[in-house]
Amino acid sequence: MSDFGLKLENHYTRLPGEFYTLMPAEKVGVQPRLLHANPKAAALVGMDPAAFSNPAFTQVFSGHAPLDGFSPLAMVYSGHQFGVWAGQLGDGRALLIGQARAPDGALWDIQLKGAGETPYSRRADGRAVMRSSIREYLCSEAMAALGIPTTRALALVASNEQVYREIPEPGAVLTRLAPSHIRFGHFEHFFHAGRPEQVRLLADHVIEEYFPDLVGDHAGWFGEVVKRTAELIAGWQSVGFAHGVMNTDNMSILGLTLDYGPFGFMEAYDPGFICNHTDEQGRYAFDMQPAIAHWNLRALAYALSSLVAKDALITALDSYERHYRARYRALMCAKLGLMRDEPGDDMLIGNLLTLMAKARADYTLSFRNLSGEDIDWLHLFGDANPDAEAWLARYRVRTESEDLSGLDKVNPRYVLRNWVAETAIRAVEDRGDIATLDRIFRLVQAPFQTHDGDEAFAAPPPPELSDLEVSCSS
Ligand code: AMP
Ligand code: MG
Repeated sequence: MSDFGLKLENHYTRLPGEFYTLMPAEKVGVQPRLLHANPKAAALVGMDPAAFSNPAFTQVFSGHAPLDGFSPLAMVYSGHQFGVWAGQLGDGRALLIGQARAPDGALWDIQLKGAGETPYSRRADGRAVMRSSIREYLCSEAMAALGIPTTRALALVASNEQVYREIPEPGAVLTRLAPSHIRFGHFEHFFHAGRPEQVRLLADHVIEEYFPDLVGDHAGWFGEVVKRTAELIAGWQSVGFAHGVMNTDNMSILGLTLDYGPFGFMEAYDPGFICNHTDEQGRYAFDMQPAIAHWNLRALAYALSSLVAKDALITALDSYERHYRARYRALMCAKLGLMRDEPGDDMLIGNLLTLMAKARADYTLSFRNLSGEDIDWLHLFGDANPDAEAWLARYRVRTESEDLSGLDKVNPRYVLRNWVAETAIRAVEDRGDIATLDRIFRLVQAPFQTHDGDEAFAAPPPPELSDLEVSCSS
């Protein structure tokens, strides 16, 4: 029996067959090899990490064997890509291989990414390259540790086959977990096909399992989706995370960070930061993210227009900015330890960001170093910067009677800098060095503490890794 103690439940197949295609995984590659597995993610679904050393684990989480008691499936969805209706997309390289009822009662999707072609692969190969799988594996755990809602990563398996992108690259299969992988695009798919009854079925399915307090209240549910999305984006902005491809098919109906591609944590602060090399217009630039999420919610609202009255949709959409601002302000005040609400706080925050942008100061360290020596913080703003000195003096006065002892639990020392992800990728690809991957994995899973010997990973890139380019090709 290969179910690793999981309590499997075919939940998605309660929906009619037009929502998915039942199919086994393709068994990509030969003799897949487990590179890393995540005990924290295993715990979420009630799996004993001892299962990692069972050869059946690698078979299952590479798609070479099924989980007993579940029929794998690929989901259909559509979406708007870069602002344009793209028509049908779907799980082109993802496969739902299980849904597990966790010990705490939560339902979790177990999904393989890169396990081969599906009817939704279009002209692509259903594969994932190692480099992007490592990036997703590390980043979903980094985000979770920062307290930002996200899909999780259970396992990283080398498929032992070449995958062809611009050049041949090693392939991988990533196992990700989420309460659900349903996207805005699932709803758009049926709405734009003129199938409002399917939209209703899907909404009721989502509400019943994931929003049980809102059963029968479609308008209230949409309002909750708006709120979760606003708060998610506020979380991204507060840690300097740029997603890179905020198409509606990459937007989670549960407000999770979903589909890690050309994402980037900002290093030198630049509000217009574009992490995706292929996003020439900068549609998904860092400072565009709050507005783009609203645009995406409007596309979702349109898809729900047969279900929820127009007035209610507009009211919910209008609440987005309020939710976003409230959460963003709370997060930024927390980063600076401004717990008492005082006039001038917004200006203090705004002035800091302006200073950071001018000096292209490191985003993460500009907050983290506030709790250290003044000299280390000032150093981020150039050799002698009177504006930074003046700001710091004002900040020290403002926070004289604040308790700043908890700041190091709010401002991370480590985020998944691009160059750090690249270090893990090169270690694995060039040297089969899993120890370095493991070190970086542990560091992003515990980003607030210091990790002896890994101080360098908290710093901006060394010169030879400062010009990395990340694109959609993955
Ligand atoms: P993404 O830009 O990764 O969010 O993907 C957009 C769409 O393209 C989704 O339907 C994906 O499933 C599909 N897709 C991306 N890469 C591949 C691939 N290598 N093989 C099959 N489908 C893919
Ligand atoms: Mg996607």
